[in-house]
Amino acid sequence: MDNPKIKNIVILGGGTAGWMAASLLHKKWQPLGIKITVVESPDIGIIGVGEGSTPLLKVFFDSLDISESEWMPACNATYKNGISFLNWSTVEGYEGYFHPFPTSLDFATFGFLYKYAALRRQGLDVLAHPNRFSLLANITEKHLAPLPAENFPFHFQYGYHFDSVLIGKFLRERAKEKGVEHIEATVESVEQHDNGDIKSLKLNTGQDLAADFFIDCSGFASILLQKTLKVPFLPFAENLFNDSAIAVPTEISSDIPSETVSTALSNGWVWKIPLTNRFGNGYVYSSKYTSPDEAETELRTHLGILDSDVEARHLKMKVGRTEETWRNNCVAIGLSQGFIEPLEATALQFVYSTIDEFSTAFEEGEFTNQYREDFNARMNKNFEGIRDYIVLHYKTNSRTDTQYWIDNRENTNLSDNLREMLSVWYGIEDLEAALTRLNIGQYYSLRSWTCLLAGMGIFPKQENLSAADEANAQAAISDLDYVDNFLASCSLNFEPHAKVLKTDMSQGS
Ligand SMILES: Cc1cc2nc3c(=O)[nH]c(=O)nc-3n(C[C@H](O)[C@H](O)[C@H](O)COP(=O)(O)OP(=O)(O)OC[C@H]3O[C@@H](n4cnc5c(N)ncnc54)[C@H](O)[C@@H]3O)c2cc1C
Repeated sequence: MDNPKIKNIVILGGGTAGWMAASLLHKKWQPLGIKITVVESPDIGIIGVGEGSTPLLKVFFDSLDISESEWMPACNATYKNGISFLNWSTVEGYEGYFHPFPTSLDFATFGFLYKYAALRRQGLDVLAHPNRFSLLANITEKHLAPLPAENFPFHFQYGYHFDSVLIGKFLRERAKEKGVEHIEATVESVEQHDNGDIKSLKLNTGQDLAADFFIDCSGFASILLQKTLKVPFLPFAENLFNDSAIAVPTEISSDIPSETVSTALSNGWVWKIPLTNRFGNGYVYSSKYTSPDEAETELRTHLGILDSDVEARHLKMKVGRTEETWRNNCVAIGLSQGFIEPLEATALQFVYSTIDEFSTAFEEGEFTNQYREDFNARMNKNFEGIRDYIVLHYKTNSRTDTQYWIDNRENTNLSDNLREMLSVWYGIEDLEAALTRLNIGQYYSLRSWTCLLAGMGIFPKQENLSAADEANAQAAISDLDYVDNFLASCSLNFEPHAKVLKTDMSQGS
């Protein structure tokens, strides 16, 4: 396209979402002569949490040709193989499980998990714990990094942990070097054209900042999409109860784990995220069930820092989505478009996929609104697909210690898709066929659904099994030796996480 209708784009907000959008869109559209400006307030901070990612963050950095040795040391970043969920279940032997990222070797062992989980759902006494079948669970337990030796030619997806303030600074400096304009000012009001389109932003410096298109990255404030264009916000409070968080750092030793740990507490859960210089920890809880003070005491006790004067940050979370992500000449990206609580650390993945899908729709429609409705429908489905999988963690908990966990388990406000998936699991039907039928396997795959459902140890109760059934189960168990040996020998191809990080650091300096 030689002469796009859009010449000038203003991004409101310089958090991670704003700088990710600026970096990607500048790279794509600068050759078309489109100018990108980021305006951010020096007085209104960024959210400053959000330190875990999915593998899409690697796709983001790769697409900008930014190497790990460049950005990781600058952001105190570490590798992430997946997430361990501890104490969400009280079922004996299933008190914790690991949700790994995909690898090209999953085919070799996960088939056994699916087979064993199916037998277990039929009531046979076979081991169906996902950790036993996952190479990433195996190497994570040994604190190994997800980068295999060169002579081990398999592909491993992985995510990262990083300092959210440093990643924003890193992206900002790089984007400015590449030619993105940066204005430090606070937006005081917004001017609109008669058709509702945004005309300009009035800044507290007196400047009137006009543009053809605006990207709202103003965080939970959602100044353009929700406040100016009045796009309604649809809360997920009916099925995701948490609305608050407390973040506090703790010390880390030189043996750095390669996973996020999510531990259930009495009214929510705590993340533990390893960076190269500290752990980031945070209690995500529901203010309906506990007070901020009680929650902070519980968090400090859990972390063993009850008497420490290290400061804890209290945050409110607005969980839900906007009715539309793109209206008129404005698209919202990041917290301004909605937020699903951080249990699977999906927010930056969402930022990346929103930018990617929006830029494709915009280019295909020759920089007009032509594909807006399709784009909005895809975004809404994406939100709901991810939300359902997050809700499943709460729905399947077996804790009885507080009303919070009981209410989560007994909550009947589930989407039709989630209701159907649970009925397929308990009805011993084919999970993979259901994912295809419901068209939701692109959000979370069979591997993820099985890890969660089997990992929580929820299996239908079966009685009156025949001797033939039991014999079948015993025969299946013989595969376990193969799986154990296979995973043990594969794991020899990985190095300690801390050692790999040191190498990256020295390459980056
Ligand atoms: C408790 C918690 C935990 C999280 N954990 C994760 C995680 O593990 N993984 C993950 O991927 N995500 C996580 N997230 C989400 C993640 O933090 C955000 O998606 C990410 O930081 C992007 O935020 P943002 O850029 O949309 O908003 P912000 O960081 O809030 O940035 C907003 C920007 O808008 C600017 N602004 C606002 N108003 C004005 C104004 N009037 N004028 C000018 N500028 C203005 C601000 O100055 C700022 O620059 C978490 C979120 C929370 C709340």
